[in-house]
Amino acid sequence: MHIGGLKETLKIGGLDNPVIKDGFDRILIPGSSLKGKIRSLLEKKEGMYNVKITFFKKDNKKDKKESRIIEISPEYSKKENKIKIIVKEINKDNKNENKKEKKENEKILEKVEIDGNVVIGDLINKYLVLKNDEIDYKIEGIPCSCGACNICKLFGPHHSKFVLEPIRARIRDSYLIIEKDDEEKILDPKDEEYSKFLELKPENIIDRIKGTAQHPRHTERVVAGSKFKFEVVFDIYKKEDRELIKKFIEGMKLLEDDYLGGSGSRGYGKVEFKNMEIIVKPKEYYERKGEIKEIKEISSLDELENKVDEAFNHFNFS
Ligand SMILES: [Zn+2]
Repeated sequence: MHIGGLKETLKIGGLDNPVIKDGFDRILIPGSSLKGKIRSLLEKKEGMYNVKITFFKKDNKKDKKESRIIEISPEYSKKENKIKIIVKEINKDNKNENKKEKKENEKILEKVEIDGNVVIGDLINKYLVLKNDEIDYKIEGIPCSCGACNICKLFGPHHSKFVLEPIRARIRDSYLIIEKDDEEKILDPKDEEYSKFLELKPENIIDRIKGTAQHPRHTERVVAGSKFKFEVVFDIYKKEDRELIKKFIEGMKLLEDDYLGGSGSRGYGKVEFKNMEIIVKPKEYYERKGEIKEIKEISSLDELENKVDEAFNHFNFS
């Protein structure tokens, strides 16, 4: 697996693609990387994300200039208590637009109700059409900002001004761990096996005509089979939150079929979740009237999903 660090901090002749380490040189996968990946896989599957299509036309001075933008975005209406996908067109032809004109240049084309079916792909196909003298387009996917869907409840809306409920999932940094004297510990540069966990893989782009290697690069990566300690904290407010945790586990399953970090197309970054446990801390525990419950030795994500029901038996929802 390779999770890239900042190569700017390395001297010339150093690695092209260093693995991320903390201030003590311990190897880790940042919680933010894990969050971003799981979120994007869930958004793709559910069709809950924002799409921005920018169209271009020919320009006399430059190659091309923006002609219009189509925005397709899930939005929550408090009044109707519903999420709808709003399709908006923004005309970019008016050059010196002031605030009032800007409003007039925006037009809502469609409001689509979500009835459990993924509709965003259909909408992209419908609106991804060049008009008049347009010559090109650019399409961008941006995380959901509706604030009301399961993904926004788990990870928070992309723009914090749309927060409707507290964010449920916090993913900690995952450190590379080893077993020592029958205990798990974070791999430290002082450990003699430290260097065995990192490998350098030279990669070349072969010159198609001469058959010689061009631009040799070195990718530092963590050896296959390395173990990381993955930890997520969920804040539970009501019994319906069980579905949010199950949604998160769905994201973990999608990740097992995908990859983590860079160069996934070259076979890096395969992950598998193993040796899992659930630690339940009911509110009585914090009030010193109750105890922590532990559900251990969970070996697969399907099993984990079943054990979530068991964990919820330990909460008293009023
Ligand atoms: Zn959302």
